[in-house]
Amino acid sequence: MKPAFQTLETIAADCSETRHGFHRHPELSGVEFTTRDAVVAALKMLGYAPQTFDGHMGVVATWPGAADGPCIALRADMDALPLREESGVAWSSEHAGVMHACGHDGHMAVLLGVARWLAENKKHYPGAIKLIFQPAEETGLGAPFLIREGVLKNPEVAAIFALHGWPELPIGTLAIPDTAIMAAVDNFDIILKGVGGHGAMPHLARDPVVAAASLITAAQTLVSRRASPLDAAVLTFGHVAAGKTYNVIPETVLLRGTLRTLNPALRDTLRADLEALLAHTASGLGIASSIEWVEACPATINDPAMAALAREGLRAALGDGCLRSVPPSMGGEDFSYFLQQVPGAYFWLGLGMERGGLHNPRFDFNDAAMATGIAAFAGIIERFYRP
Ligand SMILES: [Zn+2]
Ligand SMILES: [Zn+2]
Repeated sequence: MKPAFQTLETIAADCSETRHGFHRHPELSGVEFTTRDAVVAALKMLGYAPQTFDGHMGVVATWPGAADGPCIALRADMDALPLREESGVAWSSEHAGVMHACGHDGHMAVLLGVARWLAENKKHYPGAIKLIFQPAEETGLGAPFLIREGVLKNPEVAAIFALHGWPELPIGTLAIPDTAIMAAVDNFDIILKGVGGHGAMPHLARDPVVAAASLITAAQTLVSRRASPLDAAVLTFGHVAAGKTYNVIPETVLLRGTLRTLNPALRDTLRADLEALLAHTASGLGIASSIEWVEACPATINDPAMAALAREGLRAALGDGCLRSVPPSMGGEDFSYFLQQVPGAYFWLGLGMERGGLHNPRFDFNDAAMATGIAAFAGIIERFYRP
C-alpha cells in the first residue's frame, strides 16, 4: 500500500471487529433493523448526521465538501441470506437460518472504514461524498427504493462506485471491467393450464405436463440458436411443479426459472422469444399459458470512463500489480439501477478464498481484504477530485 494510505491498516483492523458484529446479527432483505441501527450509531460516533427512511432500512451519510463541486457516492449493501451458517468462525450467526453468505457485512465495514478515514483525516474535497448503505440487495428492491427516495439528488451525484468481495481473486487484487460486469436477471413464473383427466385416457384430457416438457426442451434453443455464441446468456428452469400421483393428468404445471443476459438488446430479444415460444408451444398442444416476470434487474454495466478513472485510483493507492482481468459474472446485482442513473463503476475485491464461495454456508468475508477495500475507495476518491 502507498504511504498516503498506510493509516488505513489501523482502521481496517477495527473494521474487522465491526464486521464481526454485523456477521453475528445478520438480517434478511428489507428487515435490516439492528443492522441499520448499528450503521447509524457508528456514523454518529464519527460525527456524521446519517439520514434514515420511513419503511425501509437504508442509511445515507454525506461528508461535506470544501466547495460545491461534483458529488461522488459510494454504496455498500446490508442484507444477509436465508442459510444456516456452517463457517465455524467465532463470530458465526446468532440468528437461526440467516447468515452473511454474500459478504455484505464486509462491504458495510469497508464503507464505515472510508467514513472514518474521511472524518479522522478531515479530508475535505471540492465536492460532497455520499456514503449509501443500501438494504435489500438480494431481492433487488433496495436500490430502486433509495433512488425513488432521492439519494442521487441534493446534492446531485455525479459518479457512483461500489465493490463486492470476490472469493477467487487473490487478496490485494481487484477487477474492474470497462463495461458489463454482472448480468440482467429476469426470473419468471410460467403457468400451463390444460384439462385434467385419467392417466389411462389422455385423449379425453389436455396434458400440460407434455407441454411443459416440450417447452423446456425447445427453450434450450433460445441460448443455443437465438443468442450469438459470443454474447453470454443462460436460461435455467429451477422449479417444475405438477400433479401428485401416477395415474392423474394434472390441470396445471408451474415452471419457475431465470434468464440472464449481459447485453440489454439480447435481454429484450430473449424475453420476447421465450414469450413467443411459450404461446406457440402451448397453443399447438391445446394448452392455455401465461408468463409473469416476477423479479428482474438490468445488467450492471460500468461506464468506461469511470472504470478507467477507478483503475487509476486503485493503482495509485495499491500499486500497479493490484488489477486483475476477470470475465463478467452471470449473477445479478441491483447496483445496476444506480448505474442507469449516473455514470460509475462496480468492482470486485479479491477475498483469496479456497473454499466457501458466495451464497455458500461455509462463506465468511476475509478480513485480510478489509484494508484493500478501504484503500480502493480512498484511491478512487483521491483520483476523482485530483485528476
Ligand atoms: Zn448475494
Ligand atoms: Zn452480494
